[in-house]
Amino acid sequence: MEDYLKSGKIASQARSYGFSLLKENALLLDVIEKVENKIRELGGKPAFPADLSINYIAAHDSPKYNDDRRLKKGDIVKLDLGVHVNGKITDTAITTEIGTNNHKKLIEASKNALMEVEKNLNPKIKVNEIGKIIESTIKKHGFVSIKNLSGHEIDDYVVHAGLLIPNYDNHNEDEIGKKKIIAIEPFATEGDGMVIEGKPSEVYSVVNDIKTVRDSSTRDILKFIKEEYRTLPFCKRWIANKFNILKANIALNALEKEGIIKQYPQLVERARGLVSQTEHTFLIDDEVICLTK
Ligand code: MN
Ligand code: MN
Repeated sequence: MEDYLKSGKIASQARSYGFSLLKENALLLDVIEKVENKIRELGGKPAFPADLSINYIAAHDSPKYNDDRRLKKGDIVKLDLGVHVNGKITDTAITTEIGTNNHKKLIEASKNALMEVEKNLNPKIKVNEIGKIIESTIKKHGFVSIKNLSGHEIDDYVVHAGLLIPNYDNHNEDEIGKKKIIAIEPFATEGDGMVIEGKPSEVYSVVNDIKTVRDSSTRDILKFIKEEYRTLPFCKRWIANKFNILKANIALNALEKEGIIKQYPQLVERARGLVSQTEHTFLIDDEVICLTK
């Protein structure tokens, strides 16, 4: 429990710090490396590579190795980050627009949807009731929720575990129950309300724990990945910083080809509608605690 409280506090501080860096012309890579280093400084570890998903990119865009993109005036930016302390993960996200004030309602749609859910959270709430609140709140703001992105239960060293928390009424009438850690993350869009797979993200996780490789450098890198990240996502950037980019490229390509790791695709809104997201992690028990407040 103590680790969860610490994890949530670090996530919250890193999110605020990251938010302060979201300015016109800021280098995405620089913002994210600063956020991830802040997490480490505060005594946590990134639970996954932090994301800055812009405009119609809904999720899973973490700056790549040598990424040269900069924030532009009018961009809608989602900062999504995860922290773990001894495997106790918290996950949180915030949306802002860069230098303009044209999409306040879109940003408020996801934010208010999460606030409405929070007011109603208790161990007896049904899974689809959460979805209904999210969907209707976003609709009231004039937008649609993204149906194929969801909140999720969290387990030790597993970001997406067990229960799925929908952003619409998925007819799951199971109660949330007690002693649950769940992340709730409404996504609002002016588009279709569906995401499709986009470009490869350079973010990976281990999917085959048994298989191994012959090449010794690749084997060393796999050993490092398994010890350092276990079942958690990691990125080429982190491997290149630890070893070098040449070794990282060779190893990650080989491991992906062998089916030992898988690469996540970016997730983009199908109609290229702008997307906002707000996320907090909650402990649901007799008392409900927002860990990432
Ligand atoms: Mn997240
Ligand atoms: Mn999440």
